[in-house]
Amino acid sequence: MHKEKPLIEIRIAGLMQGTHTFDFSCRAKDFRGHVLAETVFTRDIAVTVIAEKTENELTVTVRTATVADFTCDICLVPLAREIRGEYRLYYIYSAEEKNQESMDDDHRQIDLNTVSIDLTEDVRETLLLSLPMKVTCLGNPNCRIYGSESGKFDSCTDEKSSWQESLEKLKNKYR
Ligand SMILES: [Zn+2]
Repeated sequence: MHKEKPLIEIRIAGLMQGTHTFDFSCRAKDFRGHVLAETVFTRDIAVTVIAEKTENELTVTVRTATVADFTCDICLVPLAREIRGEYRLYYIYSAEEKNQESMDDDHRQIDLNTVSIDLTEDVRETLLLSLPMKVTCLGNPNCRIYGSESGKFDSCTDEKSSWQESLEKLKNKYR
């Protein structure tokens, strides 16, 4: 049976000691079975994997770069922003089975005969981690109307003003 090839996979069998770079290009929809919001990741995602091999260790650096689509948290204007992520993993070559429990997520054990490493899930995680917590427009004067100078959105002010506005209308009505 033909096993489906992982989206992001590096071949490490026969890899010489030293630094090796692998380049990939993918789309959000390529991550089968793993959810990446296709409304955010709408464009090509560039992935660079740098593998540094020593005698008994393999250090893998995953770098992602793409332009993602957001909406401003304050004024909801659509925004496209370049986002970059980086994640480092350490693979330790070992002939015998070590206690997996003692290894954390970034430190993994691999067999000396391992042919390739599937990094699809790590790339997906790097992309998710590279998403900014907050997205607001920069240098958009229309955005400032709703936000304070510091960019902090005070929803109470807005509610209060519309509430005061209606009160004002009411007052005028009964004057
Ligand atoms: Zn805005």
